[in-house]
Amino acid sequence: MTNPLLADWTTAFEIAPFDIIADEDFAPAFDEALVLHKAEIDAIAKNPAAPTFANTIEAMEAAGEALDKVLSVFFTVAGADSNPKREELQRVFSPKLAKHGAEISSNKALFTRIQTLWNNRDSLDLTGEQARVLMLTHRGFVRSGAALTGEADERMQQIKARLAVLGTEFTQNLLADERDWFMELAEEDLEGLPQFAIDAARAAGEEKGTKGPVVTLSRSIITPFLQFSPRRDLREKAFAAWAARGANGGETDNRAIAGEILQLREERARLLGYDSFAAYKLETEMAKTPEAVRELLMAVWEPAKAQAEADAEALTGMLHDDGVNENLEPWDWRYYTEKRRKKEHDLDEAALKPYLQLDRMIEAAFACANRLFNLDFTPLDVPLYHPDCRAWEVTRNGQHVAIFIGDYFARGSKRSGAWCSAMRAQARFPKEQAPVVINVCNFAKADPALLSYDDARTLFHEFGHALHQMLSNVTYESISGTSVARDFVELPSQLYEHWLEVPDVLAEFATHAQTGEAMPQEMLDKVLKAANFDMGFQTVEYVASALVDLDFHDGPAPSDPMAAQTETLARIGLPHAIIMRHATPHFAHVFAGDGYSSGYYSYMWSEVMDADAFEAFTEAGSAFDSCTAKALEDNILSAGGSVEAADLYKRFRGRLPGVEALLKGRGLAA
Ligand SMILES: [Zn+2]
Repeated sequence: MTNPLLADWTTAFEIAPFDIIADEDFAPAFDEALVLHKAEIDAIAKNPAAPTFANTIEAMEAAGEALDKVLSVFFTVAGADSNPKREELQRVFSPKLAKHGAEISSNKALFTRIQTLWNNRDSLDLTGEQARVLMLTHRGFVRSGAALTGEADERMQQIKARLAVLGTEFTQNLLADERDWFMELAEEDLEGLPQFAIDAARAAGEEKGTKGPVVTLSRSIITPFLQFSPRRDLREKAFAAWAARGANGGETDNRAIAGEILQLREERARLLGYDSFAAYKLETEMAKTPEAVRELLMAVWEPAKAQAEADAEALTGMLHDDGVNENLEPWDWRYYTEKRRKKEHDLDEAALKPYLQLDRMIEAAFACANRLFNLDFTPLDVPLYHPDCRAWEVTRNGQHVAIFIGDYFARGSKRSGAWCSAMRAQARFPKEQAPVVINVCNFAKADPALLSYDDARTLFHEFGHALHQMLSNVTYESISGTSVARDFVELPSQLYEHWLEVPDVLAEFATHAQTGEAMPQEMLDKVLKAANFDMGFQTVEYVASALVDLDFHDGPAPSDPMAAQTETLARIGLPHAIIMRHATPHFAHVFAGDGYSSGYYSYMWSEVMDADAFEAFTEAGSAFDSCTAKALEDNILSAGGSVEAADLYKRFRGRLPGVEALLKGRGLAA
């Protein structure tokens, strides 16, 4: 019998036949598909005919179909419904895939063909999209070092290997520091803590083998402790341990590792012909240059700092009212902010929840997509990988657009967080394929399932990513849907969150689970206002980290990163009672791997864009203005990576985004 992963899928809409796929099918299908892809790439590289766009770039686009099928199914179930067998398979597949990718990007014969096409690009008579795919393919190879020869090539391999080792060590040291430290609490030290925090402290104590409750460095334990414990001495002790992660001396100290990583990154960028690692890294982003990133961060920094300083004054007053005539310290901030939050924005989560039913919020997300993009959603009964999954056919004017799958409930077999992925991305080459898109969340299962406001926002966020996939309208899969720059990919998702806040959406869909009544206006106002609370602090701790990350990679690598960090923070004037969200020795975004190095700014970059983009609807007079919605779909949601992100944005908005809407949205505008 043929392996169902490799067979033609004759199911409705060619959705993977989950009902007949067994875990035993993955490994043989994976191995066979990998061999197949290698052979396809090899044939392209060794083709005796002169390189053409069709026999090289299009051939690469068309290759690997079997591997795509196997991996799309495997990674879906490995993330959303794992088991020991699937975990084991993942451990086996990951290094094989990394090796496979490296073999392709270092295939000299293949690169020579791509280079020839690139040299002759003006005479190839390519469409705009083809020229873009050629540029991206060529650039990807060059950036991974394919054009290097001799000693430079050898040195590049050494650097990559060493960076991989250092990234792993950095992560493991951090985990060790977070795991090892704990502080025992006596019964009276639990005073002021809410029940969930007490329960967590007791459970952690049992796990550590102590008699009583403990505070650990797990975010879910230390944060509530700093928020609720009136014991200033204990808060100080716990905070010091939290802030010292990765910088405790001895075996697990990350400071020297961070220094070596920065040196090697700079060397790597210079080998490839860039002035700095930031210049190398930002080339593929919408921001493009370190200057553009710095300009954005500094535009946000000053207003955020002013707000944080005003908040610090109010909190200092509360500290003094408690009879402590000292400076406000970092271990005081969360405690007094929590007290202030209770006083000014008391939002009763328990009273709010019955108004946010999962099914009604799904309807709300669909209804907005209907009003904006004329999409219809019809439930579809197909076998999926878990009984909690639901599927809909998405149509427009009766025409098939996509399949949307929602897997909303938490369970032990699902990793944490929420995400969107395309089990099949939209493309028209080598054949027409409509997208199959899935949203995975971790909401508590109940009947009816009720959401927190954050949950509802997550639902809209992931659905925004899904729209980016479902409305994609390009020829080549490599630039389809969410295949865009990292600092652009969160625009559709963060933008979609704004529709949850549109008053008539909540008025229609936030109805009480028992009484069916709409959410009272007073509660709605509170929900919307609470979102901006403590924004000065949150913005300052984030931007401080983003600026340190940028300084590290913009220009020569610092010989002493800790001294460089101190220098940056002094220059920007970090307020006394706030520290970086992630200090260097535990800044995993930047040092555990390459992902967010000189890229930590991108969260803020996306937020600037989503605020500015939603403002286009406000300016047009309606959150559902049809011309603006059409411009959004034509220029952003359907375009994938077919055009530079900055150009897409300019086509939509007539200009690049400004920070004003963000500052207003965060309550930081002057
Ligand atoms: Zn996202």
